[in-house]
Amino acid sequence: MDSRRIFFQKLAGPFIAIPLLSRKELPLFNDKNKVVYQGPVLRVAIMGLGSYGTRVAEAMQSCTKAKLVGIISGTPSKITAWQSKYNIPEKNCYNYENFDAIKDNPDIDAVYIITPNALHKNQAIRVAKAGKHVISEKPMALNAHEGQEMIDACKKANVKLLVGYRMHFEAKTLEVIRMRQAGELGKIVFFQGLCGFKIGDPTQWRLNKQLAGGGSIMDIGIYAINGARYMVGEDPVWVTAQETKTDTIKFKEGVDETIQFQFGFPSGAIASCLSSYGMNGLDRFYLNGNKGFAELLPSTGYGPIKGKTNKGELTQAHVTHQTVQMEEFSAIILEGKKPIVPVDGEEALKDLKIIDAIYASVKNNKKVNLYL
Ligand code: NAD
Repeated sequence: MDSRRIFFQKLAGPFIAIPLLSRKELPLFNDKNKVVYQGPVLRVAIMGLGSYGTRVAEAMQSCTKAKLVGIISGTPSKITAWQSKYNIPEKNCYNYENFDAIKDNPDIDAVYIITPNALHKNQAIRVAKAGKHVISEKPMALNAHEGQEMIDACKKANVKLLVGYRMHFEAKTLEVIRMRQAGELGKIVFFQGLCGFKIGDPTQWRLNKQLAGGGSIMDIGIYAINGARYMVGEDPVWVTAQETKTDTIKFKEGVDETIQFQFGFPSGAIASCLSSYGMNGLDRFYLNGNKGFAELLPSTGYGPIKGKTNKGELTQAHVTHQTVQMEEFSAIILEGKKPIVPVDGEEALKDLKIIDAIYASVKNNKKVNLYL
């Protein structure tokens, strides 16, 4: 479509312009007279139709490069409801027993695993064996060993492995990263990451060590771990960590309520972070350099993210995180796009190595060196 014709199309409006177009050109416009995306579309099946899976599905309705085409669930009533809501054909619906058969389904490109943490590894390996790209929610797995198994399985099957790090595409976050990379904050010396909320229902899987793999660090503290890395722009070389537990009934053995942890980075920068299931409204990143600062508050919630730097308020527009993430995942998988901050298995493995080290530091009350 040449730009002159698009110009006349817009100028004339839908009623006059459509007859001017040949049949071949018609699909380029929708009924609002906008140019329709014609590039590759990532066809995604969501596994785990729980609260976050529902959020992702809703957000995907605004995607142009990614489309929800399939579902995997153990609950037949959810399958029926999602089928009618998202127009999903019967042949693209699976349960946890039969989803290996997805390998024979040419209409699904990727499976997005949005189940409790402990299930990610085996489900990802099965998806990879079925020859489909794997998108896993965070934490990618329960520990670094499991994470490595997932990476190896995806490499072997020649499929991509991406992790739902939605903040890596958030506009204000990316602006802080740009400023830091451009030297506008000077030499980075300190990061603070506060991530926490007061968790409710004591029977939920997030408080079950077998399903969650731990406590707050696995779920919310991982934002401060990952955030420290993308805000400072380095990987830590040591960590120290201390645990505080005020409720031993709700937070059983192996399920952390609150952990404070500190990082040292190769440049000499340091970080101080807090992960908690026992404190409300903790959602703040603060980055300090010798020429300036950046503060994101809130920093990792669903948004809008708010922030300021020494130069003033950050004004980048809010877009639903999960929509942007899925658009970008499509470009990464189908077009080989390189994200500004990585979202692959190797990136997630670093966070898992840090989590292992945090738990080891708490247990042994010692500084743990990191080799990422
Ligand atoms: P949820 O409990 O709302 O949903 C989990 C889903 O998994 C449910 O549909 C449940 O039926 C299904 N499931 C399958 N097997 C199960 C089993 N053996 N036990 C329990 N449930 C089982 O949880 P959620 O909040 O949607 O979290 C799912 C994953 O998404 C977690 O890994 C979590 O860390 C991640 N998550 C990420 C974000 C983010 O912003 N990136 C936000 C929330 C959750």
